[in-house]
Amino acid sequence: MSKGILTVVSGFSGAGKGTVMKRLMEKYDNYALSISVTTRQPREGERDGIEYFFRSREEVEEMIRKDQLLEHAEYVGNYYGTPRFYVEDMLSQGKNVILEIEIQGAMKIKEKIPEAVLVFITPPTIETLRNRLIGRGTETAEVIESRLKRASEEAKGINLYDYILINDQLEECVDQLHNIILSEHCRAQRNKEFINTILEDAGTL
Ligand code: 5GP
Repeated sequence: MSKGILTVVSGFSGAGKGTVMKRLMEKYDNYALSISVTTRQPREGERDGIEYFFRSREEVEEMIRKDQLLEHAEYVGNYYGTPRFYVEDMLSQGKNVILEIEIQGAMKIKEKIPEAVLVFITPPTIETLRNRLIGRGTETAEVIESRLKRASEEAKGINLYDYILINDQLEECVDQLHNIILSEHCRAQRNKEFINTILEDAGTL
């Protein structure tokens, strides 16, 4: 039971995923949050290497060519991608790795790594999304509209996820996510070696 679990968390822009991730990291041990590369401009307060690695299109395209990204996608005019090395390193160290990525990236991960767990986080009602995006005050009206349009498209893919979490009460949502990952560690499918040992030993009874 040593290898870490790879969990992909997606959700509409403005669903509060970032806050859930931050709290999960503070509250529980043994998690590693992957830091993505992006070509979008940093928001106020965002630092290179903390929230994202902020890179030029040319730099990201070179990473893609060199196969340094586990997946990548375009989202509202920018590239976003997951650096491969950190994820593979953390998983082999037994850490539970979280990727906070959009739906196209999530589907690519599921294709490449079928044992990954896909979780979709949504606010209790869709009406709150517009208000949250406007309230955040970090995007122009035009970008907010593009993000809402994208959310409307992404909604069609919710059924492809393994779990859906409603982010109504932060602590509850964080605990539910943690419990999902704990339960996943116990899946028989993930513990074949251990089961084989038990079977061998049971044969000697
Ligand atoms: P934001 O610009 O709001 O930080 O992120 C926009 C969207 O890109 C969010 O849905 C976020 O989850 C997603 N995203 C962030 N990093 C990655 C990544 O490495 N790969 C993919 N496919 N999506 C990402």
